[in-house]
Amino acid sequence: MFGAAPDPAIWNMTDHQTADPHEIPDLTEAEAAEELRHLAETIAHHDRAYHQHDAPEITDAEYDALRRRNAAIEARFPDLIRSDSPTHRVGDTPETGFAKLRHRVPMLSLDNAFDTEEFAEFLARARRFLGWTEAMAVVGEPKIDGLSINLTYENGRFVHGATRGDGTEGEDVTANLRTMQALPLRLSGNAPAFIEIRGEVFMTKADFLALNEAQLAAEAKVFANPRNAAAGSLRQLDPRITAQRPLSLFAYAQGETSEPVAESHWVYLQRLRDWGFTVNPLSRRLETEEEAAAFQAGIAEQRATLPYDIDGVVYKIDDLGLERRLGFVGRAPRWAIAWKFPAEQATTILREIRIQVGRTGALTPVAELEPVNVGGVLVARSTLHNEDEIARKDVRIGDTVVLQRAGDVIPQIVSVIAERRPPDSVPYVYPDICPACGSHAVRPPGEVVRRCTGGLTCPAQRVERLIHFVSRAAFDIDGLGEKTIQEFYAEDWLHSPADLFRLPAREAEIATRDGWGKLSARNLSRAIEARRRIPLERLIFALGIRRIGESNAKLLARHYGNYAHWREQMLAASEIGSEERIGLGSIIGIGPAIAEELAEFFGEPRNVATLDELAAKLTVEDAAQPQATDSEIAGKVVVFTGTLETMTRPEAKARAETMGAKVTDSVSKKTDLVVVGTDAGSKARRAGELGVKTVTELEWRALAGFD
Ligand SMILES: [Zn+2]
Repeated sequence: MFGAAPDPAIWNMTDHQTADPHEIPDLTEAEAAEELRHLAETIAHHDRAYHQHDAPEITDAEYDALRRRNAAIEARFPDLIRSDSPTHRVGDTPETGFAKLRHRVPMLSLDNAFDTEEFAEFLARARRFLGWTEAMAVVGEPKIDGLSINLTYENGRFVHGATRGDGTEGEDVTANLRTMQALPLRLSGNAPAFIEIRGEVFMTKADFLALNEAQLAAEAKVFANPRNAAAGSLRQLDPRITAQRPLSLFAYAQGETSEPVAESHWVYLQRLRDWGFTVNPLSRRLETEEEAAAFQAGIAEQRATLPYDIDGVVYKIDDLGLERRLGFVGRAPRWAIAWKFPAEQATTILREIRIQVGRTGALTPVAELEPVNVGGVLVARSTLHNEDEIARKDVRIGDTVVLQRAGDVIPQIVSVIAERRPPDSVPYVYPDICPACGSHAVRPPGEVVRRCTGGLTCPAQRVERLIHFVSRAAFDIDGLGEKTIQEFYAEDWLHSPADLFRLPAREAEIATRDGWGKLSARNLSRAIEARRRIPLERLIFALGIRRIGESNAKLLARHYGNYAHWREQMLAASEIGSEERIGLGSIIGIGPAIAEELAEFFGEPRNVATLDELAAKLTVEDAAQPQATDSEIAGKVVVFTGTLETMTRPEAKARAETMGAKVTDSVSKKTDLVVVGTDAGSKARRAGELGVKTVTELEWRALAGFD
């Protein structure tokens, strides 16, 4: 994703091609639903970071892994596919006010080749498709790592331009494009009455470094690489800022046109020059495969000294007549391919391993490096992915490491050079304490990420948790949006959920703030006060415990009935092997993995303290229970026998009694109902002899209103 900005529609195809439902053998439906919800949020977050803020936080590989996991779960549980599923959503939704502009002809994404064989196969495929036996000339053009745009000219005048977007429609950045020196506002010579011209907006390496220096001096955002700098500069809401940014442009393709302008791509490039565009001067027409391979090698050799970043060479079949016949497969043309370079590498020394805590509590290791130039970009930091990765590569502080930039924004550590390891080096020990808050950090079985369990108290997660806390399905407090929470957090007014209920005391102060008045401050106080009474299920959901979504919160609330009982049971359940823990894990729809998340939450004293502080300010409403008098088992004498799979015996007994039944130990003529678990012995036989009604555990659950 972070390389050449491939088409989201293509990722989606790939998602499903590689989706293997067998990868997720032991996920319950509830867990799957919860994880899909989480993945939808996470992927949307990274889409925003990439597309809107031009500041990706994870690598291509990690992003792809998230999407694959999502697709695999969807393949196994098709009924759970969400309306906001990342599979269906096409990325690149602008955060800001750019209008959408539809491309007359879609902007395609290219298939990749990585070596001579794959390139030869591309040509062979095209020949087979056409039944062509002669040589097929191609045009090779260095593949610039920039931002693709579509420019529309009418009667020789530039009328509008758009980013590539999802390939079908992009953002209208006409005003910004107009400020670019490199863009002809009028075409010279004879141009068709209507023509779409495609090109790449980019920033040279020198301009990028100078811009970052200026940004640094102004304490403004520093860009990760020239591509992000170009994208960030072109997508400014204020064109005056774009005007100050050193953007370059190479034109290289056509979209819709009112009349044909050339018989071959090579001639078309010449026409682009005639009209006033810059065409990459390194572009060549190549008669044979051998010429193309030699060209590829030549460009690769020049790569480091070129003034701009490239990540390969694009080859297009020169004959535009053949190009039309070849058409597309999926959304990639059959007549073009991107032959990518192998990743760029450099070696440097790893100074420190720093653990970052993300907004969801994930601990991520970051390598602090002796700064080194990798493919024209100064690199001082690199992701180490996760603790397994560190262990697998045995990365240690002080090691000399091989860094790689593979079109990725964030370089990766490929390997360690063992011969250069300092003699006193020791294996890296991954922390099990959150560096941001000191809570314990745990890694659920089967997962790669270690997480801070201090969600409600951890400074790295607080704002995120508070936003969740007031969200609609949780405390649903009107007038408290993300921005306000951030503001109040910055004021030191809002650190924990309990602080929310201290806000009404600041009503007068809030009323005087920018954007507030007496009425809005009053309304906020009212909205908060109204939530001092809260249903148990909303409170449970609001805590933002991992995997506890709305439906699981509801299950727990119904199961435990009231807040005091739930709290007490959860505290007891934080002990591994306790009866309460087993009981929790055997609730249908909860299961051991979710039980573990709850246990981790309650196992962290800081969380319990925060919860208690909050609960002291609330009246928590009991969960709605089936009425004893309505119950089919009211007044009945019930006996349990055998092992119950979904609940403990004490719980089953308690439930029966709540429903108005009497539970006895032995079966007699007075017994109305025997609940038969597995390995039931004499009592089940006796019930048979006496003709007493027996039910299975599942039937019992239905009678007792569990399901
Ligand atoms: Zn923490």
